[in-house]
This record gives sequence, C-alpha cells and structure tokens, in this order.
Amino acid sequence: MVEFSFVKCLRCVTCGAEYEIDESVHTCSTCGPLLGTLDVLYDTDRLAASFGPDILKERTDPTIWRYHEILPIRDRSAPVAIPVGMTPLYSLDSALGFNAPKRLLIKDDTRHPSGSTKDRATAVAMARAREVGVSSVAAASTGNAASSLATFAARADLACCIFAPATAPAAKLLQIRAHGATLLAIEGTYDQAFDLCMATCERLGFYNRNTAVNPFLSEGKKTIALEIWEQLGFRAPDVIVVPVGDGCIVGGVYKGFCDLLDLELIPRIPRIIGVQASGSSALAVAWREGLERCKPSQASTLADSICVSHPRDQIKALRAIRESDGLFITVDDQAILEALSILASKAGILVEPAAAAPLAGLKEALAKGQIESDAEVVLLHTGHGLKDIDALQKASAGNRPLSVKPDLEEVAEALTKKRVKDAGQNG
Ligand SMILES: [Zn+2]
Repeated sequence: MVEFSFVKCLRCVTCGAEYEIDESVHTCSTCGPLLGTLDVLYDTDRLAASFGPDILKERTDPTIWRYHEILPIRDRSAPVAIPVGMTPLYSLDSALGFNAPKRLLIKDDTRHPSGSTKDRATAVAMARAREVGVSSVAAASTGNAASSLATFAARADLACCIFAPATAPAAKLLQIRAHGATLLAIEGTYDQAFDLCMATCERLGFYNRNTAVNPFLSEGKKTIALEIWEQLGFRAPDVIVVPVGDGCIVGGVYKGFCDLLDLELIPRIPRIIGVQASGSSALAVAWREGLERCKPSQASTLADSICVSHPRDQIKALRAIRESDGLFITVDDQAILEALSILASKAGILVEPAAAAPLAGLKEALAKGQIESDAEVVLLHTGHGLKDIDALQKASAGNRPLSVKPDLEEVAEALTKKRVKDAGQNG
C-alpha cells in the first residue's frame, strides 16, 4: 500500500476526535452522522515545502490533480481519466441591469464533464473508491451528484446505483440512465432517498458517495478555492457567493481557503456568502437565530439542486459562514428566475436555477448594504442550464418563438411586427 504523502488524519468538526483514514470511517462515532462530519487534516509544516506558487507555476496539468499534494489520494494512477477542474474565472463586465460591484467575476463550474460542480467531489471520491478496490458505488442526489457519479462510474467500469427523487428534472434523470447507472426513482423526497441510500450501502457494501458522510467530497470541492486563488495570481478575492442546499459546496470552499491560510499562502479567508432559496432555508434560519444546528423544515423551491429539508453538511456550512465573517441570504423563486434570465440574456451564461441563486443573492446583499461596492466578488455557478428545461421554459416565457410559414414575406412581416412590439415595450 502506498502511503499518504501529507495527509495526517480525519478530525470530527464537532468534538475534535481524530481518526485514521479508513473507508469504514465515515463520521465520528461519538457525534453521529449529522454532527460528526470529518475534516481531512494535512501535515502543513511538511506540506509547505512541497506546495506553493513557484511549484504550481511549473505545472501543466489542467485539472484538480495539479493540487495532488493537498488532496487525500495515495496513488497517482487512481483518478478516473476524465478531466475535472480549472474551470474559467472571468470578469462579468456586461451591463447586468443593476449596480453591480466594479470587480465582479464568474467561476463557471457548469463547464464540467457532467455539467456541474459535483464532478470535483466525484473525482476525488472515485479515486478513493479505486484505491480501496470496490466494485459498486452509490449515491443519493437531487440530480447533479448522481449524474456526476454515473459519468465517472461509466468511465471506471464500476456498477453504479443512484437514489434520486422521481421528481428530479428529467434531463438529470436521463443523464444517469444514459451512462448506464441503475436508477432508483424514489417516490418521495431527496431526504428519504438519502436515508435509503445510506442503509443500502451499509447492507450491500457499496462505496458511498453521499454528501457530508463521505469526508473526501469536501476535499474535491475545496479545489474551487485553490483554483480561484491561483487564477487571481495567488491571492484570494474579498467575497465569494455560493448556492447552498446540503452545505457541502460552501463547506468545501471554506476548507480550501482554510488550507491556504494554514500554509500561510493567503493572509485571511474571504467572506463567504451562502445563498438559499427562501423555500429551502434551514441553514439561513439556523445562522440568523444563532443555532448550532438546523431545525426541522419542509423544503420547496424550483431550484431543485438546493431543495433540502434536512441539510446533511450543516455543521461545515454554518462554520464556513460564521468563521469567514460571511452571511446567509435567502431569495425567492421569482428572484432566482430573474437572475437566471439576466445571466442568459445579458451575460451569455446558461445556468440552472440553483446556479442563478448567487446573482439573486448578490443583488439582495448590495441592496441591503451587506457588500462594499468596491469589493472583488466571485459568483460560483454550479450547474448548467440544460439540466432543467422546465425552469428555462419559465424563465423564457416572455420570449416566445415566432411561428411562420417558410416564406420570406411572412418572415419579414413577423420580424417587423416584433421590432415594433419590442420598441413599444422598451420605451
Ligand atoms: Zn465527534
């Protein structure tokens, strides 16, 4: 067995108990699966000599594995051969129709093999699964994590079992089936699918990619922070805005900046703003009321990727917001659809509703004076727009197609009418 180069141990986020890295350890035995999620700790003193700007500048690997020293993988041949990471970070300089901060950037994670940020976590989890030598992997998901796992399992030739709510967007369910995974379309909620998947993995010995209970997922998602730091010339932005459902992505972003702080590669952690849908706001409520954990709730929002009644990674998510001096913002479905429409029609970026939530949250935070107008802000876009056709239909309801016969006169007439109508609407 190849040894880890720099990984020390796993540590419980609540009680601090430390565990050896072992696939049978998912969460702290004292604190349980909800409160006892685990961080992967590194030997930062030794790591500092092997990781930093000078070393990265020499690297040509355009994937998350350029950060291999700071990822929990022993065997460099373990990652599945699907490129993940180094998604574009670019300035959003188009007119967005509101008073946006001067330095507004997009981290476009929709450009991943399965179309979402989840590929970062899957890449690390699947590399771990291959190191351990499993034959079957499983996950419960609102859709994106599942389609991501199905993608990687296909390439790795592993059996894949997915638990997803039957109500998940059709495109996501199709992705899963197209990649050959077994899809259990649960006639219930995501939270029920999650519990069923946990029990099935326990009974049948499948490798479990469920969010929060697999400590390696946060390590994959932390590469968002590492990339932003590198793409900005090895520095952190002032603010990063992230959509939040279970809390795994926001917790991972925080962990990435924490690792950089521990290595003295940044002077401080940027403020992290978590955006939840107002119909799925268990974490925002807990943060606002100063609670240590979320109260029971019943989630409902069109942003299916962040529709979660019972956030599984709530301890890491609350820690990320509190310790970065950040905040939670809630936005309603109408604001999310408007943000989706602005991104698509003014910035040329097609995202699913959850991925539009950061822009809606940014508008809200600016209106309330919660972000300085001269701050450098990064919006994280987590999922591609074609994953949810119904939401695109709603967002595009005001721009119906012109029905015409194949005749040039009809085309000219229809276009003239439309021009007159648009001019009337605009002024
Ligand atoms: Zn514990």
